Amino acid sequence: MKNTLIAATLAVAGATSVDAQEIGVYPAGSGPSMLASAENFTGHVVVSPLLPSTVDTPSASGLVSFAPSARTAWHTHPAGQMLIVTAGKGWVQREGEARQEIAAGDTVWIPAEVKHWHGATDVTAMSHIAITYVRDGKNADWMELVTDGQYADR
Ligand code: MN
Repeated sequence: MKNTLIAATLAVAGATSVDAQEIGVYPAGSGPSMLASAENFTGHVVVSPLLPSTVDTPSASGLVSFAPSARTAWHTHPAGQMLIVTAGKGWVQREGEARQEIAAGDTVWIPAEVKHWHGATDVTAMSHIAITYVRDGKNADWMELVTDGQYADR
């Protein structure tokens, strides 16, 4: 148990993996929730770490909650990302394509190196679990923010 907080902190950093050989139960609140950085997110976004990354399956995982109109910046993932929508309704958009609506219960796969953003709709909050795979110690390459104009253009 005493390793839980350390492990959760490592999960946030995303750069270090633990060599997990036992089943680990990480209770809700094992790692501190934090506000997402305004550098990579627009609006009010809370990130709660879930599991530490492991050596065999390097990944960052967290529960991410977006207020209405809150969203990620444009970004890519070097090894892909799975989103499991746990509450509300939101949008995911690949650059150059129409956005898609996502709702509680939906699972989304974002392939490696695909430029995209995800977030809440303008009138509904949205929460998803994000499992983001790590390659060469990195799980995302962050780009420019999604402007209000881009967000409104649908
Ligand atoms: Mn993503």
